[in-house]
Amino acid sequence: MQRQLRSISPTQLRTYDTCPLQYRMRYLERVPTTDSPASLVGQAVHAALERNFLEKRHSGYDLDLDEASEIYDDVWASRLPPGAASGASADDFEEAYASGQSVLELYLKEVAPRVIPHLIEHRFRFDIPGVQVQLVGTVDLIDRNGVVIDHKTSWRAYPETYPDQDLQLLCYAIGYGVFRAGSRIRPGNLPAPFFIPEVRVDVLVREDRPFIQQLTATYDREDLDRFAARATDIVVGIETARFDPFWQAPNRAEDPQVCRRCSYARICDASLVRDALLEDGRQDGNQEEQR
Ligand code: SF4
Repeated sequence: MQRQLRSISPTQLRTYDTCPLQYRMRYLERVPTTDSPASLVGQAVHAALERNFLEKRHSGYDLDLDEASEIYDDVWASRLPPGAASGASADDFEEAYASGQSVLELYLKEVAPRVIPHLIEHRFRFDIPGVQVQLVGTVDLIDRNGVVIDHKTSWRAYPETYPDQDLQLLCYAIGYGVFRAGSRIRPGNLPAPFFIPEVRVDVLVREDRPFIQQLTATYDREDLDRFAARATDIVVGIETARFDPFWQAPNRAEDPQVCRRCSYARICDASLVRDALLEDGRQDGNQEEQR
């Protein structure tokens, strides 16, 4: 059935880009997901940092560790799945809780003091060139220098090329570029590269010795054209109900890591890792932060 989209969010765009079947399960069939240890850490750290920069914008000061931990704990307690609902053990959650707290503490001590927030939760919308669909989203944090900053938690470092490849991050950069350009954008076009800000991903890596990885990127005309082409393909794919698993698409490898990071890895018929996970009796601990 043809489905006419009016708007799409950066997360939806990225989900389809990762796996069209995952998009269908999450946004059309609304198959419920249960937080894994990794996704719960992501939610709790994100909430604490969001409040930190929101308050710092007015007060000029970062939260102290107790205040940040309270927010972290509140999110943790409210979302912790009952029993073995996620397939992870109580020990897995305990380990994740502790590692999340450590890396949050490190970030507040070493990185947050150097960030001067300018805009928080900045909403944006812009037209995707070539289709009658708007991209609607929110940038978490833009600092005083106009750099778009995104936070991720992970149990290992991200590849250096991550900011160049992540559609969601490019959406945030374009979203702020639209704000900067104002009326200087021609209808149906993206802003000129001149207006697109630098982006930075702060990855809070929860290894035994936690550390903060900072990856930066700037985008040029080629990146914007690539974005427009990919976003258009995705919109057309959704509107024409193309929801095959990612590994059936041309030029995509059968990469089990994609399924390992998927919330539906244990229940999806096309999962490349379902049998292994069910045999293990556990969900992999590396599900992506979902927000
Ligand atoms: S388990 Fe794999 S194939 Fe299934 S929806 Fe998730 S990413 Fe796609």
